[in-house]
Amino acid sequence: MTTFEEVLYDTLGDIDFDAAELKVRYLAERDKRLRNDGNEQYVEVTGDFSSYVDDPYVEPEERDALFDHADVAVIGGGFAGLLMGGRLRESGFTDIRMIEKGGDFGGTWYWNRYPGAMCDVESYCYLPMLEELDYIPKHKYSYASEIMEHSRNIARHYDLYRNAVLSTEVTHLEWDEAAGHWTIETDRGDQMTARVVVSAAGPLSRPKLPGIDGINDYGGHTFHTSRWDYDYTGGDSNGGLAGLADKRVGIIGTGATAVQCVPHLGHAAKELFVFQRTPSSIDVRNNRPTPPGFAESLEPGWQYRRMDNFNQLVTGAHQDEDLVNDGWTDIMRNLTGIAAKTASKKLGRRLTREERAELMEMADYRKMETVRRRAQKIVDDPNVAESLKPYYRQFCKRPCFHDEYLQAYNEPGTHLIDTDGRGVERIDATGVWANGEHYELDCLIFASGFEVGTSYDRRSGFDTIGRDGVLLSDYWADGMRSLHGMNVHGFPNAFIVGPTQGANLISNIPHNLTEAGETIAAIVAHAQASGVDEVEVTRGAEDAWVALLEAGGRSFGGDASCTPGYYNNEGQEISTAQLRNTLGYPDGPVAYFDYIARWRADGDFAGLTFTQA
Ligand code: NDP
Repeated sequence: MTTFEEVLYDTLGDIDFDAAELKVRYLAERDKRLRNDGNEQYVEVTGDFSSYVDDPYVEPEERDALFDHADVAVIGGGFAGLLMGGRLRESGFTDIRMIEKGGDFGGTWYWNRYPGAMCDVESYCYLPMLEELDYIPKHKYSYASEIMEHSRNIARHYDLYRNAVLSTEVTHLEWDEAAGHWTIETDRGDQMTARVVVSAAGPLSRPKLPGIDGINDYGGHTFHTSRWDYDYTGGDSNGGLAGLADKRVGIIGTGATAVQCVPHLGHAAKELFVFQRTPSSIDVRNNRPTPPGFAESLEPGWQYRRMDNFNQLVTGAHQDEDLVNDGWTDIMRNLTGIAAKTASKKLGRRLTREERAELMEMADYRKMETVRRRAQKIVDDPNVAESLKPYYRQFCKRPCFHDEYLQAYNEPGTHLIDTDGRGVERIDATGVWANGEHYELDCLIFASGFEVGTSYDRRSGFDTIGRDGVLLSDYWADGMRSLHGMNVHGFPNAFIVGPTQGANLISNIPHNLTEAGETIAAIVAHAQASGVDEVEVTRGAEDAWVALLEAGGRSFGGDASCTPGYYNNEGQEISTAQLRNTLGYPDGPVAYFDYIARWRADGDFAGLTFTQA
């Protein structure tokens, strides 16, 4: 008779690591990094720090303040806003106003132009509306400039530049009950109105800075990676940073952003100092040009099928074919229900909960061992290689894939400053202190990421005032409440595009945004066709949705055994309010997308009321 132990070995192959030792090491690495201040360790980019979020790419065009009306206003011109605008146009809406803080469309890809920036989910799944625009990306993983251009092309294709206001930040959003519309005030003095408002601000859009002592004293050149200063560094997002040839450069942070820009910095700078608190896990990227004949091989409807195939595989469902076949699907095949199903088949019975947990844990150790061994193999200096090895489970942090990052540490001018979990000690006028040593720097770059887990109004930069003067921040004081993450009771004709309280954060966020765009466009078009003025979710439907999600308990992150990061609220306990802000559909993203497609197609829009003012 086959035993679970035999199946475990058979499924994982040789187990040439000591699981007990790794468990102890993982917990020790976590403990080193736990701190009481959690998210409070970061400073908000306001006041003295607001210059960190100025737009370095364009000078805002002079224009008069606007006091006009649009049928629909979409706040945000990134993928979420573009998908929304596109679907509204397809539904026949002509009077749309796009409002965007950046000087152009693109959102994340407008701001994040750092050298080496590229998408890390396959471009054929990640870039939205490829079929609509009849466009095939040049590589399996597209570079930033191509993604930005694709965003602009979506805006052109759907005529979204018409009536758009760029370099414009919303400062106030208020429902006018008597007029039955929203008033939108901006930092350009506008006081516009719109019957319907869609907030498409993006989940990780507000840069954050580490609250390191003395951060304000630094006298050299400094910027955040999402506001790259090419006037200073020279070059562009493809590299060629000639301005750094005589400079000593420091970069704080080693997350997904730093992983992509460090190779370019190392290549260009006279000397580069990478200040590391926790190493990322770096697996194989294997980017390559789109093969000849790829476009011809595709059948209509191919992009959605591919996105769906990817989403199914990375969330543990079975698919006969792996269309994407990359690092993500490889990890997930081994670390999700797919592995459990394979083991269960071999065993001839279902795994117990404990057996399943053991299988997942062992598979994770094994995967991370290959990542650690890759660092060992690539990096010449064994001490540096050791420092670059991640000792935590794969999904404690965003997995990274890169073919030049580890290699960058073999450049003589690139120095890894491993702070062993402590981070940078302090900053002074001339540089950075770490491990008791001072590093004099001409330029200090913050690759310190974006706010996650802070309040919605703080991240979007404005509060929303609904019926009877109720502030959204007050309504959500005990956590987010919504139907599908889109509609909020007391906030008629307002929609939110985002993953929370829907499918939740998945590997390919544009998939969430695609579904949300279709759903919201269908609701707004239904209201228009029915000749009604107001759409609102009932309190009962909202309560029922939140209760369903809470009962399911499927939230994003929160694994206390993980090394801290934004995936687990920086290792802090999660309050009820925070839990609500991270809830997703109980049966997971695949089931949610099925559910919402049926809900939309049904035509009843259950839970919403459509009324004539
Ligand atoms: P992250 O939040 O992932 O990384 C921030 C980094 O700053 C971490 O390495 C963190 O260390 C470090 N840090 C913070 N405080 C200190 C300190 N006091 N001293 C030293 N180091 C410090 O931000 P990123 O911008 O890298 O990535 C954010 C997210 O954006 C990614 O997770 C991903 O979702 C997305 N992204 C996607 C890309 C793509 O698809 N191509 C590319 C880039 C980003 P620690 O880990 O110890 O907290």
